Amino acid sequence: MKKVVKFGGSSLASASQFKKVKSIIDADCSRRYVVPSAPGKRFGSDIKVTDMLYDCYEAAEAGDDISDKLEAIRARYYEIINGLGLNTVLDEEFETIAKNFMAKAGKDYAASRGEYLNGIIMADYLGYTFIDSAKYIFFDDEGNFMPDETNEALGECLKSLDRAVIPGFYGSYKSTGKVKTFSRGGSDITGSIVARAISADIYENWTDVSGVLIADPRIVEDPLPIEAITYRELRELSYMGASVLHEDAIFPVRKAGIPINIKNTNAPEDPGTMIVESTCKTSKHIITGLAGKKGFCSINIEKDMMNSEIGFGRRVLTCFEDNGISFEHMPSGIDTLTVIVHQDEFEAKEQLVINELQKLTSPDRIDLESNLALIAVVGRGMKSMRGTAGKIFSALTNHNINIRMIDQGSSELNIIIGVADEDFEQAIKAIYYSFVDESL
Ligand code: ASP
Repeated sequence: MKKVVKFGGSSLASASQFKKVKSIIDADCSRRYVVPSAPGKRFGSDIKVTDMLYDCYEAAEAGDDISDKLEAIRARYYEIINGLGLNTVLDEEFETIAKNFMAKAGKDYAASRGEYLNGIIMADYLGYTFIDSAKYIFFDDEGNFMPDETNEALGECLKSLDRAVIPGFYGSYKSTGKVKTFSRGGSDITGSIVARAISADIYENWTDVSGVLIADPRIVEDPLPIEAITYRELRELSYMGASVLHEDAIFPVRKAGIPINIKNTNAPEDPGTMIVESTCKTSKHIITGLAGKKGFCSINIEKDMMNSEIGFGRRVLTCFEDNGISFEHMPSGIDTLTVIVHQDEFEAKEQLVINELQKLTSPDRIDLESNLALIAVVGRGMKSMRGTAGKIFSALTNHNINIRMIDQGSSELNIIIGVADEDFEQAIKAIYYSFVDESL
């Protein structure tokens, strides 16, 4: 059995967090490949080392003296090293970093040092081999990740290593060797790449929550975690703003059929969330999760006999396409068609779009409604259950919330509800409690 374990910044922010990580790894001998992030926040107002590095590099680029900023970063690492009683020496590394910063080695190089140095400490602490990700994770000249070349090189390197630490977040341009990072939160992607390269049985992603939560904890107090979620469901929830895992972390493992288990470093016994391709396990709550966003706007177009006018929908969408506006949803009736777009994207081009709509479609009426929030209620179990939509509507009606739009995807994986921005939080709570905790 082989497991890849990725630890996020909050799991590695201090020596005491490192100790928890070590006991998690020691508790299961199949946890053989470790992907660390850079040290994150130790407390609410703390600064992540990655942000300190960006800041320090900016100062170097501006030609300022960076010694204090670099010293603060160094202090973060030595606090960990000393707290763990290690003899790791990073002096040479810091000299090189200072030199490279002054030589303007690049923002990506700067940020990558966060995981690089944490990886060295972690390898020392665990007694594992340290692998520099820049040598095995490749990007092409346009900055696109090269999955196959990476998989081959990394697989070849790791096949002879029983245990290794591979820092997250960065790799390098294949042609030049220059360091390149993924986008923020990209250590999740590294974990997934390593899992594919060693054909892991499971990719454990350790963070500071006990899994993907059914609803946003900023809106619902202590929401329950999701036990099992499919990749497609997760994509629906992430798109609507639920954030646990970097979106691009899904592709490498999904392709290889490796499940992801989101776990909590501070509560390792909790089962967390399993993210899988498919499962016959259904959620006891019917719905898997819900997420939403504010700030949409709907353009309602009305025209008699619209249904028999071939090409009407295409002409409508042309007006949006020509103005570079992407649409989110498009519910339609016999003589009406509604296009839902992001308000901030639409506002600047509003009159241009309406003008074009008038010209191309000669509608009877166009109405605009702004400040619309969309809520996606997601659940693979919905298609085999009757009454899910009814239950959502009664929950909202009972709280006096007016539903302004409904759209159900043909996959029956989700139902999208539009409500006024000001009803958003209340609507999320109403739906959550009606499905998850009916006693409230
Ligand atoms: N340290 C990087 C960040 O803060 C990458 C990561 O933690 O995944 O975005």
